[in-house]
Amino acid sequence: MRHFPIFLDTTNRNIIVSGAGECAVAKLRLLLKTQAKIFVFGHDPEDIILQWAKKGLLIFTERSLKKNDIKNIILIYGANENSIEDARIKAISNSMGVLINIVDNLNDSEFITPAIVDRDPLTIAIGTEGTAPVLARNIKKQLEEILPTSLGILARIGQSFRNHVEILPMGQKRRNFWTKFYFHDGPQALQNGGENEARNSLNSLLKNTLETKTDIGRVHLIGAGPGDPDLLTLKARKLLHEADVVIHDQLVSEPILELARREAIIVETGKKGFGKSWYQDDINALMIKHAGQGKHVVRLKSGDPTMFGRLDEEMSSLDQAGILYDITPGITAASAAVATINQSLTKRGRNSSVLHLTGHDINGFADQDWRILSIPGTVAAIYMGKRAAQFLQGRLLMYGTAPNTPITIVANASRPNQKILDSQVGSFSEKLTNSHIDGPIIFLLGLAPRDVFSQLQKSSNQIEMVIS
Ligand code: SAH
Repeated sequence: MRHFPIFLDTTNRNIIVSGAGECAVAKLRLLLKTQAKIFVFGHDPEDIILQWAKKGLLIFTERSLKKNDIKNIILIYGANENSIEDARIKAISNSMGVLINIVDNLNDSEFITPAIVDRDPLTIAIGTEGTAPVLARNIKKQLEEILPTSLGILARIGQSFRNHVEILPMGQKRRNFWTKFYFHDGPQALQNGGENEARNSLNSLLKNTLETKTDIGRVHLIGAGPGDPDLLTLKARKLLHEADVVIHDQLVSEPILELARREAIIVETGKKGFGKSWYQDDINALMIKHAGQGKHVVRLKSGDPTMFGRLDEEMSSLDQAGILYDITPGITAASAAVATINQSLTKRGRNSSVLHLTGHDINGFADQDWRILSIPGTVAAIYMGKRAAQFLQGRLLMYGTAPNTPITIVANASRPNQKILDSQVGSFSEKLTNSHIDGPIIFLLGLAPRDVFSQLQKSSNQIEMVIS
């Protein structure tokens, strides 16, 4: 981080803008929101600058800035639209030890002004170290859309009520109170009856919150999808953000865990390296322990929690402990994988059913109805089949699946290191071994990537494809 973001107190401080053209006007629009006294120096001023001066919003002097003008100044903006004049101003500021920003000149600036979302007193500053202003602008646009314009008013009203809310215990209960005020009761009251109503809503919300018994813990069994955080449902995202404790499988990707609050306890239950994986009973006990303490626990499982996720064992133990829970579905690996090869899991005239199988079960390599799989047109998504690949190949061939039946191997579906291996039943096991692919893989029996054109499209999307 080259530029450190801080919020500068501008009360009783002076800021200078050197330049009076369009470039200066743009900066002044921002600076006029501060409490600083603004001094503008320059020639040929834009009309608006004269109008602001007339209204007493700034002090304009129609000449170039001199060293003597710099008294009790905290910041200087060089907006002269002239590099020689900007360099002169920079030399003056440096000699006076005042921080300077030369507009649109990152190298000569000692500070930069971020993109700002203004819901005063809530202010969001967005910076990209000057590298990608378009990115900052787009993020600003999105935030402007998400944050209700009333948020500033509510924040001010809320501020005067902070002391009263200290009666609530710190943590979940207090957080819930404020979330409810800022995003539900407050905006509604403001709309119905203005600021007074919003103030009243704080009182009634506090009364209600005090009257409700202590929070009962709960477990949210959530599908994290195949890895791409954009494939998370909005509900999962929201619950993850509210969680006190997140217990996740190893396959849940890092960018998804980033969405949890910083204070949340995060526990990984998967196997790492040659380490031991957690016993299911220990996972259950951990969920029960935290939820029993009134915490909101998110049990985050890769893909969809109802698909090969040992969900029933977890639900039974929660039932036994009398802990409430709910399920939020996610995108399962098969859906993500089939999308990467531009195919459908079902197709009129080809297959009217689709199978989801596991290569492994409690007994080791899982036995299946191999004859059904050999029927031409069959489509099956085979999970957890990496180590069982040779066994699968042998069984499929032995029970009559044609060796040239397509089978696509998709590794790390939806992740940046996604790989697609186009193969056939007669040889996919060797192909997989030779590919040295790392990460979770799924087999799509009966499906080949759609066509050459789509493969080109995939590679132009920087997704690696290995084509046979
Ligand atoms: N509940 C999960 C499946 C858990 S079983 C779901 O609905 O997807 C774990 C298996 O899922 C892995 O062995 C692999 O076969 C598959 N899998 C999970 N994520 C995957 C991914 N991103 N790409 C390919 N396969 C994946």
